Amino acid sequence: MKSFLYATALSLLATACGNQPSGEEKPAAATRPAIAVKNYGLLGDSLIREYTLSNAAGMQVSIINYGGTITSLLAPDKAGKTADVVLGYDSLAGYLQSNNPYFGALIGRYGNRIAKARFQLDGKTYTLAANNNGNTLHGGVKGFDKVIWQATPLSDSSLRLSYLSKDGEEGYPGNLQVTVVYTLTAGNSLQIQYTAATDKATPVNLTQHSYFNLSGGTDSTILDHELQIAAGRFTAVDQQLIPTGKLDSIQGGAMDFQQSKKIGRDIGQVAGGYDHNWVLDRTGNGLEKIATLYHAASGRVMDVLTTEPGLQFYSGNFLDGTLHYTTDGKKYVKHAGLCLETQHFPDSPNQPSFPSTILQPGNTYQQTTVYSFYTK
Ligand code: BGC
Repeated sequence: MKSFLYATALSLLATACGNQPSGEEKPAAATRPAIAVKNYGLLGDSLIREYTLSNAAGMQVSIINYGGTITSLLAPDKAGKTADVVLGYDSLAGYLQSNNPYFGALIGRYGNRIAKARFQLDGKTYTLAANNNGNTLHGGVKGFDKVIWQATPLSDSSLRLSYLSKDGEEGYPGNLQVTVVYTLTAGNSLQIQYTAATDKATPVNLTQHSYFNLSGGTDSTILDHELQIAAGRFTAVDQQLIPTGKLDSIQGGAMDFQQSKKIGRDIGQVAGGYDHNWVLDRTGNGLEKIATLYHAASGRVMDVLTTEPGLQFYSGNFLDGTLHYTTDGKKYVKHAGLCLETQHFPDSPNQPSFPSTILQPGNTYQQTTVYSFYTK
């Protein structure tokens, strides 16, 4: 379990209508506990809080308002024993360390890379904050993973996070009002609903960067996990992981996850490991099941459903055991966890053939992703 900077500080139940804890304990609902709130640490003068959603089936998800970050996700195995299935830290210091690779965080304004940290829109060139070999990764130097969100419990199962990204932030045009609602259902699904509105045209591509390891701490890597992805193509990339614009067929090779297979089976054939955007086979833009992750020893299964056209499967290639403050002091070695980031394609603002990521004033950006847990 986590140790908190302010373990003895207030721990109270959130009211249904605001994020200002009242200091008074309210009786828990008959069917499920209300959202528990704990002080998690201080960032400058700002108090960071952790909100824990739980259901009667024993599943629990904890989220801090720094980065909208999922700090732990407890899910039962086939014997009914719960364990944490995401990589995390034991305190805020972990999330603040400079080489924290976006553990559990919300990503924006633009998930993944924008080449050369620039794009053109309506005849104007916008220059972004570069943070990855001269490119922009995950929103820039201070993306949505590093800002404080306003948290509002909506019910005993939903937490709303809001953030206003100002015009010009990290180089992006327009004031962008972003809302993310995390909901834990009675049926062990974690639903993430994103909406955004802008006052100037801007690219938007929001996602979630949890690193899953369904063994719950038993396996040091995810190489034994089995993965299935409903995709026949992926966006080909250059050495800097920038799309070339081509969509390559997976053709039964190492990139082929159409039939479930162990991640470790072919990973040696992919230089550096998996870190690609799969072009999902899908019809329309409704919520569809697009991937399944399975860990046989624990029996845990996670389905991924999304409204998005792409899925970045990142196999934790840059983890190297050097992160501090890790949960239970674990060493997060190469491939200790994997990300399944539902998204639009990387570098879409510079790739006219990719589905557009430009949000116009008056329109609403919407994306829904569900991580659904069960055992077999
Ligand atoms: C990217 C990786 C990057 C990682 C950072 C992933 O979403 O695809 O290239 O290194 O995030 O943790």
